[in-house]
Amino acid sequence: MTGLLPYGRQSVTEDDVAAVAAAVRSDWLTTGPQVVAFETDLAGWTGGAGCAVVSNGTAALHTAYAAAGIGPGDEVVVAPMTFVATASTAVALGATVVFADVEPETYTLDPAAVSAAVTGRTRVVSAVDYAGHPADYDALRATLAGTGTLLLADAAHSIGATYRGRPVGSLADLTTFSFFPTKNLTTAEGGAVAATDPALLERARRFRSHGLVRDPDELRWPDEGGWHQEVPEFGLNYRLPDVLCALGRSQLRRLGDFLAARARLVARYDEALADLPGVRTPGRRAWAEPAWHLYPIRVLDGRRRQVYDRMRAAGIGVQVNYLPAHWHPVFADLGYRRGSCPVAESFYTEQLSLPLYPGLTDADQDRVVDALGAALDVGRPRARTVLA
Ligand SMILES: *Cc1c(COP(=O)(O)O)cnc(C)c1O
Repeated sequence: MTGLLPYGRQSVTEDDVAAVAAAVRSDWLTTGPQVVAFETDLAGWTGGAGCAVVSNGTAALHTAYAAAGIGPGDEVVVAPMTFVATASTAVALGATVVFADVEPETYTLDPAAVSAAVTGRTRVVSAVDYAGHPADYDALRATLAGTGTLLLADAAHSIGATYRGRPVGSLADLTTFSFFPTKNLTTAEGGAVAATDPALLERARRFRSHGLVRDPDELRWPDEGGWHQEVPEFGLNYRLPDVLCALGRSQLRRLGDFLAARARLVARYDEALADLPGVRTPGRRAWAEPAWHLYPIRVLDGRRRQVYDRMRAAGIGVQVNYLPAHWHPVFADLGYRRGSCPVAESFYTEQLSLPLYPGLTDADQDRVVDALGAALDVGRPRARTVLA
């Protein structure tokens, strides 16, 4: 076997291709029926929370923050163990980001750190379902009780996961998804905002389409004429075209299968690596049914760089997810300091994502496990026959 095994990749079938082809041949390339249908289908995964699809996961975050009405003078508390977009989109609206540390087992936002970070200016608290493991939403809610602060879930990793039996999408006021090819389902580029409050959903829909309003009851000048539409608040064009919504609908039919395949591979990694010295496998809380997007191990004893380099050289596309968001130069230049979120930062220095995607074969996975053992100079961790 040759070629780089990626850390994540899409699964596309001929049914997906046929769905896209049908959409391309239809009257509606964008703003048509596939958009509405994809949003309806997604709501089947969010416990009924309404969804607005958008052009990518970053646009989803920007749209969610805009729907929450954040702007200059407002503070947004963000988990640092995330892709930078969770924070940068709040900055784009003029808000001040305050990073709060994560929990040591799941690397999701720590409710105690949130309590310490919240001020009278905090408008939104943003949790990240890191690797597909839901944050502790009930505990986060409890810290915000009576403050009017909105809870946002960056669920770019976790569509299909449940928390105490409740689906991601129904747990926070606003939930954002990404449909980038490495994520749990794909539309090439794409994303969505779910909102439990219909008024927030309406604001999100408006923002994604220039801020335009047509409803006569909402127009300032309703007698202008039949053509008339107005922009009462600024928005952008973050629409997801019908062509990509058709792909999303087709992919969504297999989301259950994708998650089952990921869970099976995670169990297989857990077992294969349980006795491997020098690494720690990801934690999981009893109340979580994760939608495993990543398989993040910790490489102990300061050997992460060595293991990364050796596995890459062996053709295993391991990845590091993520540089703590506040370590990016753009935040450092604003005065954010290393050391402010020690749990996330020490995790980062050891973190390594092993390949995980539904099309990863058992033979591919065995190759990853063997390469990891070799990179650690310990050889094959245990007899593979027990995994059969
Ligand atoms: C992928 C991702 C995003 C951004 O999504 P895009 O679709 O790539 O813009 C945001 N947050 C997290 C945690 C992500 O993994």
